[in-house]
Amino acid sequence: MADCIFCKVRNGEMDSHILFRDDRCFVIRDINPTAPTHLLIIPNQHIVSLAYIGPGQEPLIGHMFAVAEELARREGIALTGFRLVMNQGPDAGQSVSHLHMHLLGGNTLRDLG
Ligand code: 5GP
Ligand code: ZN
Repeated sequence: MADCIFCKVRNGEMDSHILFRDDRCFVIRDINPTAPTHLLIIPNQHIVSLAYIGPGQEPLIGHMFAVAEELARREGIALTGFRLVMNQGPDAGQSVSHLHMHLLGGNTLRDLG
């Protein structure tokens, strides 16, 4: 997708440090962090949201969880705890239409409300 921020990051067209990358996803730090550790786990493929996950793509979601756990370990927050969030659609405040998972941790997170 030509005007998608995360596709541009994936393609190296933006000045963004990629912490992790494999054949299915990549990980960057959120530009506007809301916790001491705030990472984004992003599929390489431009998938708009969970609603656009096609048949056979479900394993990608499981892989994103596994990558999140690995990155939490690398960040030193696997034992202290972390939160994984996928904002879906306007009510959840999804602002980038390229599927992504937030990994948040490093302090006590506010209650979900
Ligand atoms: P959403 O609100 O869609 O769930 O999350 C999108 C996230 O992407 C936001 O937390 C926002 O701060 C982050 N973000 C938006 N643009 C950029 C960018 O250019 N670089 C990085 N690293 N994060 C971005
Ligand atoms: Zn994209």
